[in-house]
Amino acid sequence: MFFGPPKFSSIGLEVFIANYFLGFELDPLTHVKKSKKFVTIANRLNSSDGTNVELWNWGRPPRGRAASELNNLATLISPIVLKDNPDSWKWNLDTSGCFKTKTLALLIDKAKHAPPTPHIKTETNSTLPMNIAIFIWRAKLGRLLTRTELEKHDIDLDSTLCPLCQTHEESAAHILISCPLVAQIWQLVLDWWNKSSLSIGSLDDAFAECQTFANSATGKIIWKATKWACGYTIWKYRNLKVFHNKTWTPALIISEIQAQSFKWISKRQKKAQLSWHQWLINPESFVTRTGVG
Ligand SMILES: [Zn+2]
Repeated sequence: MFFGPPKFSSIGLEVFIANYFLGFELDPLTHVKKSKKFVTIANRLNSSDGTNVELWNWGRPPRGRAASELNNLATLISPIVLKDNPDSWKWNLDTSGCFKTKTLALLIDKAKHAPPTPHIKTETNSTLPMNIAIFIWRAKLGRLLTRTELEKHDIDLDSTLCPLCQTHEESAAHILISCPLVAQIWQLVLDWWNKSSLSIGSLDDAFAECQTFANSATGKIIWKATKWACGYTIWKYRNLKVFHNKTWTPALIISEIQAQSFKWISKRQKKAQLSWHQWLINPESFVTRTGVG
């Protein structure tokens, strides 16, 4: 419980926090601070019978500004109910009294008249980096700071159009999946994996758990690493375009996706020596290997 900035300077009370430290007790006549003697709210408030009684003991009652500040203090502490248990923090916006980020997120959504935050857990495992897992989690929630999201937060922008194609609103789904320039990247990934029969047309197609390699834990993780590397690399190059006006080619991006995913996978491979050359020409051959994951 924090009541505010230092008050009562004219009579020497310096700061009061919680039930314990109200200030330094002053000599009632000279207003000189008595050595190392603290005054607590409990010293000055008797609430044993359920009614608060202030226990001031002035040799010379405060006057003028001091009296006014004393009156303010009495108003502040009057609702306090003293208990025997130690002080603790209580968050009044949740009935449990405990602070919960989930409750806070709901309150913010409600205040902004936004739809509730969907409950999607971050996917974590020992193969893929946590910062990438968080990026994908934000993407799935549609909470990347795209231009349409920034506009929702009243950020003044010249345009909300996609910085790559300049023809559609820039949402997470557009910039990571459906932008024509980005769709080329996904197609290159599918071609590289010899999976042209699959289609990546939504954030779910790209990042939700899918049935591809459903019977192979290694296959699932390698395929996931590839898709996550694709999404993350696209976002990285989107930012280079937005903030540095750098252009890129699909060939450059696919090279980086191959390198990034190989780095994540080979870092965790425990048994087989993974071949970069083999990764480039036939990534699916890694699925039958063991020791990844
Ligand atoms: Zn676009």
